[in-house]
Amino acid sequence: MSGEGTIMVAGAGPAGLMLAAELTLAGAEVTVLDGLPERSPFCRGFNLNARSLELLDRRGIAGRFLAEGPTVTASMFADPARPLDLTQMDSGHPYVLGIAQTRVEELLEEWLAELGVKVRWGHTLIDLEQDGDGVEVTVESGGRRQRTRVAYLVGCDGSRSTVRKRAGIPFPGTPATSYGVLADVELADPAALPFGVTHGERGAVFVIPRPGYVRIVLDDPEPPADRDEPVTLPYFQRLLDDQLGRRAELREPRWLTRFGDAARLAGRYVSGRVMLAGDAAHIHPPTGAVGVNVALADAVNLGWKLAATALGHAPAGLLNSYHEERHEAGERLLATLRAQAALAGHDQDLAPVRDLFGQLVERVPGVGKYLAELATGVSTRYDPKIPGDHPWLGRLAPDLELTVDGRRTSVAELLRPARPLLLRLGDRPLPEAGGRVDTRDARCPAWPGLEGLLIRPDGHTAWVSTTSDPQPTGTLATALGTWFGVPVTL
Ligand SMILES: Cc1cc2nc3c(=O)[nH]c(=O)nc-3n(C[C@H](O)[C@H](O)[C@H](O)COP(=O)(O)OP(=O)(O)OC[C@H]3O[C@@H](n4cnc5c(N)ncnc54)[C@H](O)[C@@H]3O)c2cc1C
Repeated sequence: MSGEGTIMVAGAGPAGLMLAAELTLAGAEVTVLDGLPERSPFCRGFNLNARSLELLDRRGIAGRFLAEGPTVTASMFADPARPLDLTQMDSGHPYVLGIAQTRVEELLEEWLAELGVKVRWGHTLIDLEQDGDGVEVTVESGGRRQRTRVAYLVGCDGSRSTVRKRAGIPFPGTPATSYGVLADVELADPAALPFGVTHGERGAVFVIPRPGYVRIVLDDPEPPADRDEPVTLPYFQRLLDDQLGRRAELREPRWLTRFGDAARLAGRYVSGRVMLAGDAAHIHPPTGAVGVNVALADAVNLGWKLAATALGHAPAGLLNSYHEERHEAGERLLATLRAQAALAGHDQDLAPVRDLFGQLVERVPGVGKYLAELATGVSTRYDPKIPGDHPWLGRLAPDLELTVDGRRTSVAELLRPARPLLLRLGDRPLPEAGGRVDTRDARCPAWPGLEGLLIRPDGHTAWVSTTSDPQPTGTLATALGTWFGVPVTL
């Protein structure tokens, strides 16, 4: 199932599928396995945010996802009565796409299959042991255990990650102190509960429309001692009636589950030859509706770095920059979600803060934009490791319209092969960066002052120079060396 040069990805959720595709695009040999016999039919998330769509666009597949559902230009930060206007964001996709997580996974799995990689369902990673040259993994399939040696192992195996535990990676944070329950059900009388929030006698009831059914989310104030005890329809019905203070009869349960508000972040995203991505690296309450999106962002950051490392052309420290960049993003995410949870909670002491916050969003220009870009990851900036204060530096490069060899194209289109990209845009002579970097002579009519742009495979800007703020070619050489190990003599 694998070999000594293989990268094994454990888990075929959003993180594992996206990572396997990114590794494959970059030329690495990949095995992706999942313990389930087939994809779970139960759908947790229902959205892709602006940052996810931007990333998928840079692989040429955003259209497949956008064809699946409606886009909405408002989102909630803390108060459903005061939605955030997403059109304020500096993004090519200033909206949220309504799409079932199960469909996201199917589309990613299809794309991965087109790239030549099939998921090995029914293969559970049981154990691992790493040394300086590789990782011995034990995989169980069909009742048989097999030991195999791979070059690298990435745990994309969800919040209870076996990889994280067996690699001894700490998972500090806060345990769950409150719980919620959700039910995908039908209402016997659809008029009994409106969509959105209903403030009942003893709690708030969220109702989200789904095709042919509704998702209802409630507080679970007195969960059983065993939090894994299944949630039954009678249990959920009792809670609903109690919180509403009246009966709203439910039927046809599809999925019932309990979730907590634990928030944890892996101490290391990279531990020797073992890495973590997605829920294996961070857990948080599902109320922010970002887990799938953060999993994709982790995968796109890690893919090109791990592939370059496995193929032997990564500069020193490249793989560790995955930890530096995404651990910091994870810390920011958890802090943002804690703030959101506090503001969105029932604590009446916080009512004046909630109100003040709402006033800031509504009345102070820029506040709503800041929060929308923070919550969706659109403002994510990685340390470029070179001096410079251009606003694009370290951030996702905008999807500029370009002309190359007389043909119209765009940054997103040129990034589809997931390779480093050097755009020579002005009259100033810039070097050819060598075989591992796609160098293009281009024109950008919308930004005539642009001289040069170096973009990482994940779309982030590694160097930018303009006629009004020309950057020394020495910093271009540093960027090429730092990210791609390309020696350039200038
Ligand atoms: C109720 C609920 C609602 C949510 N709503 C949203 C939302 O609206 N928007 C959003 O963005 N996020 C939402 N999330 C979060 C989102 O579902 C997760 O963050 C996301 O699935 C994480 O993706 P992942 O690939 O890291 O992990 P997972 O999707 O959990 O995938 C992990 C995979 O690893 C496999 N696996 C586990 N152990 C092993 C092993 N030992 N060997 C092999 N395979 C293994 C599992 O079978 C699974 O397929 C919600 C979560 C919950 C619980």
